[in-house]
Amino acid sequence: MTDFRREASEILAELEAMRAVDAPTHGGRVLSYVYDSGLDELDELAADAARLVQPVNGLDPTTFTSVAAMEAGVVGFARRVLGGAGDDDIVGSVTSGGTESCLLAVKSARDLWRSVRAGSPRVPRIVAPVTVHAAFHKAAEYFGLELDLVPVDPVTGVVSAAAIEERLGDDVALVVVSAPSYPFAALDPVADVAAITGPRGIALHVDACIGGFALAFWPDELPAWNLSVPGVTSLSADLHKYGYAPKGVSVLLTRGRDRQRFQYFATTAWPGYPVVNPTLTGSKPAGPLAAAWAIVEALGEDGFTELTARAARATAALREVVEGIAGLRVVGAPTGPLFAVATDESAPAELRVDPHHWADAARAAGWHLQLQPGLTQADGTRLPHTTHLTVTPVTEDVVGELSEALVAAADAVRGEPAVDGQALVAGLAEALPGGADALAAASVDLDSESAAGLLRAFGLLGGAPAAGATAAGADGALPDRLAPVLALVGALPPQLTERLLVELLARVVEPPSASELG
Ligand SMILES: *Cc1c(COP(=O)(O)O)cnc(C)c1O
Repeated sequence: MTDFRREASEILAELEAMRAVDAPTHGGRVLSYVYDSGLDELDELAADAARLVQPVNGLDPTTFTSVAAMEAGVVGFARRVLGGAGDDDIVGSVTSGGTESCLLAVKSARDLWRSVRAGSPRVPRIVAPVTVHAAFHKAAEYFGLELDLVPVDPVTGVVSAAAIEERLGDDVALVVVSAPSYPFAALDPVADVAAITGPRGIALHVDACIGGFALAFWPDELPAWNLSVPGVTSLSADLHKYGYAPKGVSVLLTRGRDRQRFQYFATTAWPGYPVVNPTLTGSKPAGPLAAAWAIVEALGEDGFTELTARAARATAALREVVEGIAGLRVVGAPTGPLFAVATDESAPAELRVDPHHWADAARAAGWHLQLQPGLTQADGTRLPHTTHLTVTPVTEDVVGELSEALVAAADAVRGEPAVDGQALVAGLAEALPGGADALAAASVDLDSESAAGLLRAFGLLGGAPAAGATAAGADGALPDRLAPVLALVGALPPQLTERLLVELLARVVEPPSASELG
């Protein structure tokens, strides 16, 4: 028996100390990223289930047959509640998350498009509202499609079927709509779009990653949005969101076995084992699948209905609170347990509340809301910068406390104008060694050192913080105020921002350098 180099208890204590600094995953204080059912027993069950399959390799469900059984169970449940009850022609896969489900929906659509247009030199196109999740930007980049973004109504955040119809052509491999969209919780007109794409034989994906398992049990009547709509050819829904499973599990449902087979990769052209992969990964954990399966078995449709009702009540209560705050407004007519908040431009300037200052004030009081940048659409209309709230069942337990905090945060910042991104950039540029020219010269070709230098100058990476920005921890922890950071994101050229964000995320996970270890 080998001795461990360190005691297990000591290692776990160190991990617990690291976890203590994380944003709280439970209790409803973080209104994005985490989906808390509020049921400790459900979390325990999920952890026990994941532990039971810890050594299993999900790569081969013929060797590890538990994987096949659990996947069939989860896909069967998803099909039943997402509009495919009794329809054996709808098949599915469990994936590692929403992004993988979306990537695979695009890959299948591309390969089907290519199969019927052998030899076409054209680059296939994805048509989607500008609010479509960034996972589709990633899919277009990874798989070599063009992403054609359709402007949405700047007031409601909803895309019109007519606007999508205008963009259709023989090169369109896939249309994507959201149920609902992440930024504004807008429920796109699924049936109207399907009525256009269906007769043309164009694939239509419904991205229900965030909302699927909540809308399926939503207490109010909703327009048709799922696989019950005949022209919908695929749908994604994340179990690690409103399925309350630990991260790493989503489902992708596809109408038609033949369509779905384009998702697969298979090869025997190497001297190793024959490879057949329905998803992007090879070897993969069975833990998230087992956790999701156990949760579905435990909750059943009644349990999901009850949890969804809690989230729905909390959402309604919070929306009412926000609507009652002078200077703020809820964006559009959100559907499901999430919504976005913008400045009420109809209020006099001294009463307006900037949503990013509001989020920063709420954060200082221990409530983490998510800041979203604004965006100018292709038609020149402007989507406002907003603050996003994702509401989970546990939120109902803290809705009173949270409401008070939201009101107090608005009172604290009312009348304070939004951070002027252009002024901030100008100020920062002056403080740079090369002045404004240095910033103007910075491009996507920025090397790692120069990018890190800019981040340090902006106060976003360990080192001397510049005036106007905010002091970041030397370890790359988030600054106290995010409003100036988001204003920077909005004011710098997008490619430069993207390059700087890459540098920031890459530096955050770098091992400490020899000099720092001293
Ligand atoms: C979360 C989300 C995704 C991506 O899912 P991940 O699980 O984060 O990879 C895709 N679409 C929508 C609408 C989402 O909310």
